[in-house]
Amino acid sequence: MKLKKLISSSEFTLFKILEVINESGLGITFCVDKNERFIGTLSDGDIRRAILAGVPLNTQAFEILNRQSESFKKILEKCANPEMLNKLKQESVCAHYKSSAVDLMNLVSERVTIIPLIDDERKIVDYFEYKANFKIPIASSILSGQEISNVLECLETNWISSQGKFITQFEELFCQYIGAKYAVSVMNGTAALSLALAALDIGVGDEVIVPDLTFAATINSVLQVGAKPVIVDVNPDDWCISATEIKKAINKNTKGIIPVHLYGYPCNMDEIINICKNSNINIIEDNAEALGGEFNNKLLGNIGTIGCFSFFGNKVITTGEGGMCTTNDEKIFQKLKVIRDHGMSREKKYWHTCFGFNYRMTNLQAAIGCGQIQRINEILKKRDEIQNWYFENLDMKFFEPQKKPINGRSIVWLVSVLLSSKIDKEKFIKLLNEERIDIRPFFYPLSEMPIYKPYIGGTINSAPLISKRGINLPTLINLEKEDYKYICSKINQTLHLMTK
Ligand SMILES: *Cc1c(COP(=O)(O)O)cnc(C)c1O
Repeated sequence: MKLKKLISSSEFTLFKILEVINESGLGITFCVDKNERFIGTLSDGDIRRAILAGVPLNTQAFEILNRQSESFKKILEKCANPEMLNKLKQESVCAHYKSSAVDLMNLVSERVTIIPLIDDERKIVDYFEYKANFKIPIASSILSGQEISNVLECLETNWISSQGKFITQFEELFCQYIGAKYAVSVMNGTAALSLALAALDIGVGDEVIVPDLTFAATINSVLQVGAKPVIVDVNPDDWCISATEIKKAINKNTKGIIPVHLYGYPCNMDEIINICKNSNINIIEDNAEALGGEFNNKLLGNIGTIGCFSFFGNKVITTGEGGMCTTNDEKIFQKLKVIRDHGMSREKKYWHTCFGFNYRMTNLQAAIGCGQIQRINEILKKRDEIQNWYFENLDMKFFEPQKKPINGRSIVWLVSVLLSSKIDKEKFIKLLNEERIDIRPFFYPLSEMPIYKPYIGGTINSAPLISKRGINLPTLINLEKEDYKYICSKINQTLHLMTK
């Protein structure tokens, strides 16, 4: 809905106001004075009551907006049914555009569900509409800076496909941030994983070890290149792949391990590197969820042979859909590029030197990525703050956070905690959904899903226990402390009710 369609001059006649309301379709209009300052909201019900009171349709809006005014008194004297006019709502409820979601929710009532948002001069710059299905979603991003100007530049210059300056720029900025020599952008995080495996010549007959607790993209990428995934258990305390279990699962066919830095937590890379030493097993880091995390002072994704990243909408930074492979090996870098682009020779057009995919990222996606990666520190800082706000305001006797890493630094992706085993998780999530707060359960263990069962490669104990109790809390970087206090109060209330 265009804001302009909702605004009327207070000099409009009631007839004209009816026309505006009819056009807007929201049943109301915001009236402004000559200087575009907000005066009050009129609803179709208000006009109906004015007509029933006997107020002529050529009356101007301002005459009925202010009940203290002389003009209103005159109308009262003249009209047939002055009682009716007392039922006019005459709402002048409005809020500053910087108000928090909680403040806005507090202004909402049965009668007022659409609130104009005004600037310091009372000019209307936006509006807030309360919907019965209003929800605090699980994640959000901020795209209001370079992201917008970069995308507009793509559109204005016609560079919207998979060539253009933002692709190179994004890859360069990403390399700089991660500290890797090379980066290859791709269309999503799953493609990054498949591309990495293909570039390492992993395929039919090869085995790749994956953790039981992860998003299914990790195992799907292995299946996609025709290799056999081998699922092993995770550690009970940090929820990441268990080095002990990796050791047990290795055999002569093992060509790769995909440690997943789960929910922002760095896997113990020392142990994994040690296991692979003097073997031809490659480490492909799935760093879709821990961009900015570190192990031994190295950024995650820059420790294994190839690092894979995702820029899906709810990830630490986003390009809508998007992904990246990073490496320090020149040869692998060249292979990644060739396979990303149909396996086509980089020297001879339409000459294909190997089997490949079309996994390219578009300039539009990269344009957003360039804006996002430049504010990564600010984004990570905000995510830390959000987690602190949760831990300060939640009744922590019901929650168990991930343990603190010893040789590394974890980051906050989606605030992740284990719920007390006394609480029925499904019921908890349902009750909070009814409060319009989106709480997510952890991933199901791969080993529990029939399609992945054939690939279980060891004893599984911890993953199901963690999965059963784990939840992700809303981690929206455009909400503030007060908003999180509100979310926490709803969560605490719910838990106290459930344990009464
Ligand atoms: C999101 C995610 C992926 C896949 O990324 P997409 O961009 O959605 O394809 C892979 N692995 C993990 C652990 C993820 O969380």
